Amino acid sequence: QLSEPFFERDKGILIVISGPSCAGKGSVCKIICKNNPDLRLSVSETTREPRNYEKNGRDYFYVSKESFEERITQGQYLEYATVYQNYYGTPKDYVEQLLDSGYDVILEIDIQGAAKVRSNYKEGIYIFIVPPSMQELRRRIEERGTESKEQMEMRLNCAYEEMRNADDYSYIVINDKLEEAARRVQSIITAEKCRTERL
Ligand code: 5GP
Repeated sequence: QLSEPFFERDKGILIVISGPSCAGKGSVCKIICKNNPDLRLSVSETTREPRNYEKNGRDYFYVSKESFEERITQGQYLEYATVYQNYYGTPKDYVEQLLDSGYDVILEIDIQGAAKVRSNYKEGIYIFIVPPSMQELRRRIEERGTESKEQMEMRLNCAYEEMRNADDYSYIVINDKLEEAARRVQSIITAEKCRTERL
């Protein structure tokens, strides 16, 4: 059939974005999702308390420790991890259904979760977002001001550890200017989609 396209991808691609707290992962993902109608951001479940500007079902699904642990035993997470003393997990059915329907899916998850996903989705795109400096990271965490002083220190200390794992990712994007970082992530996704295209 002359009118038939050469190729149609029947499954979506998984895009994994990690990086320290306040590196700007969420802001980059928002821009990317706005510009890519075939992309869906996976909404994770967490046992952490919502921040005052966050919305249940949009930023996270906020659940109790008990129900999170029950869902672990039921095998309902694609991956989960304890991050900064709370559980965070990616709902398995939701993400698999989106991928099967041909949507590309972004997971914004920590380095432990990414390591688990990597063993099952080798063909995924793994991107690590970093701030331009630790000083700037501190400034952003303090400016956001959503955590207690202790929590802020813990997040900053973890940042060093997280940065040491950046080598596990195929791409590193420095988020100095948000728009530029989003452009870079977009270029990576576009290039990777072309690279994995098969006729
Ligand atoms: P925050 O509390 O700042 O929203 O997120 C804390 C950390 O948890 C971030 O590094 C974020 O990427 C990570 N995170 C969010 N959702 C998930 C998830 O479903 N799984 C894992 N492993 N990490 C997550």
